[in-house]
Amino acid sequence: MKLLTGKPGWTVQADVIVIGSGVAGLTTALNLRASKISVLLVTKAKIDEGSTKWAQGGIAAALGPGDTPNQHKKDTLTAGAGLCDIAAVDVLVTEGPEAVRRLIAQGAVFDKSETGEIALTREGGHLRNRILHAGGDATGAEVSRALLAAVNDDEGIEVIENALAIDVLQSAAGAVCGVTLHVINAGSRDGVGRALAKAVVIATGGLGQVYSQTTNPPVSTGDGVALALRAGAEVADVEFIQFHPTVLWRESASGGQQPLISEAVRGEGALLLNDKGERFMKEKHPLAELAPRDIVAKEIFIQMKESNSPHVWLDATTVPDFEKRFPTIYASCLENGIDPKSQAIPVAPASHYASGGVRVDLNGQTTVPGLYACGETACTGAHGANRLASNSLLEGLVFGARIAAHIAAHPAPQLEPEDAPAHFLLNPAIQLPLQLAMSQGAGVMRSAASLNETLGILEQLATRTSTEPCIEAWEATNLYLLAIAIIRGAAERKESRGSHWRSDFPEPSLDWQRRIIQRIDSDGVWHMRYEEVR
Ligand SMILES: Cc1cc2nc3c(=O)[nH]c(=O)nc-3n(C[C@H](O)[C@H](O)[C@H](O)COP(=O)(O)OP(=O)(O)OC[C@H]3O[C@@H](n4cnc5c(N)ncnc54)[C@H](O)[C@@H]3O)c2cc1C
Repeated sequence: MKLLTGKPGWTVQADVIVIGSGVAGLTTALNLRASKISVLLVTKAKIDEGSTKWAQGGIAAALGPGDTPNQHKKDTLTAGAGLCDIAAVDVLVTEGPEAVRRLIAQGAVFDKSETGEIALTREGGHLRNRILHAGGDATGAEVSRALLAAVNDDEGIEVIENALAIDVLQSAAGAVCGVTLHVINAGSRDGVGRALAKAVVIATGGLGQVYSQTTNPPVSTGDGVALALRAGAEVADVEFIQFHPTVLWRESASGGQQPLISEAVRGEGALLLNDKGERFMKEKHPLAELAPRDIVAKEIFIQMKESNSPHVWLDATTVPDFEKRFPTIYASCLENGIDPKSQAIPVAPASHYASGGVRVDLNGQTTVPGLYACGETACTGAHGANRLASNSLLEGLVFGARIAAHIAAHPAPQLEPEDAPAHFLLNPAIQLPLQLAMSQGAGVMRSAASLNETLGILEQLATRTSTEPCIEAWEATNLYLLAIAIIRGAAERKESRGSHWRSDFPEPSLDWQRRIIQRIDSDGVWHMRYEEVR
């Protein structure tokens, strides 16, 4: 099953196609070049678009005195709430320090302490100082800058911007041998075309745009997970979506990426208030406003439901020197007509990170031959039911290198693509109602009833098909597929664990010490199986 497109008007060829130019795609491309493999790197918008440049906190790696990969492993397993793949965590934490050293050798500059050593800080869930950061809170921008500079210097990597990968091309036996692309403004390669290759690496990032409020940029429509599903690949853990408790709620914004109001504002004494002006976190957790993210997000969501309001309030009027301490947040509040020094800020939870994705092995191989996945798109199992802060940039660095090594060690022939059987497309107008329905019924807090209701809305939306291929329609159809996968996983998992909260099953259950794996067969039928987690 594939998306409806126009007839391909051109063809290009490379050894390997990498889809996406975040930390995962760039790292994979650069490591492939170490083996002299030619790379076509396609990216949906401008090359620096994606979540990577937005990452603020940093990269976790056991580099500090007294720290060890084993201690990093323990913290990762605790956050993952019993669902981590131990082998994947081992790879992440043991190969992490070397991957970070390689990034430094590639030109990334991290903040230093007064003694000239790399400054390591701590974040929620880490029992050691092991977070490298750059420019204070601009780590992702520095990682992106350094990797992009290295890619620009390499003539063996051809980059096509504004190139949206629609679907993979597959041989008669199902092996992946290229992608269908839609390109804007690239001369002779304008419109829909085919790129052929011996292997394809999906590194398309997260799927935050499935929800109406997200910290993710507009490109994060989960295209890679959706195209992998259509290719027959397995996806796992998609019900585990991390929500950030506080983004700025904007009346004028119908959906999409929202400015983050960092935990640090609550750290400086800002208080969460409901619609009646009452504090509600005090009786819910000993740390009150500074409770773990998922707990704060859940309580905010409950307050919003009870008062039928799209947001709660964050009163930061007592925070001294707000404009100096939080210049970026101050500016985005002012831009939206709120002065945090004299007014409470309207805030709501927003989808932030997808712990699941395309199921891969330790070499990034999906269940479809020739198809690899890396970064937030992939599910290595390293995050389990909840990602430990700052482990995601690291995952892109570590697994990007492993994928490149695996491709280099297993040269494949160029296969002939076969025509795909069925094509479908939904109307782009379904996007906003889909996002709103997902945030209401399949977001921070779920129940059998809310998931069922959301599914009903989606089924209605799915009747609005389209015969006019365009970017908005491809993205909306991808969002629809992901929403269905998330609802199916969330409805099946009858427990609360990690970032998955069920109001009708509020406790974790030993019966659910297993991974939910889904796929779609060539007739469009969904299948589900379980993988026991030790
Ligand atoms: C606000 C924010 C703060 C964060 N802070 C941190 C942090 O401090 N530490 C940390 O470790 N993680 C953090 N994260 C998470 C982390 O940034 C991401 O998980 C990580 O950057 C993902 O990298 P990636 O390469 O997988 O995807 P991305 O960086 O999102 O890149 C995806 C790429 O794929 C392209 N693409 C998408 N669809 C298509 C398509 N169909 N065709 C072609 N190209 C496509 C995009 O344009 C983009 O180039 C944060 C995320 C956000 C949003």
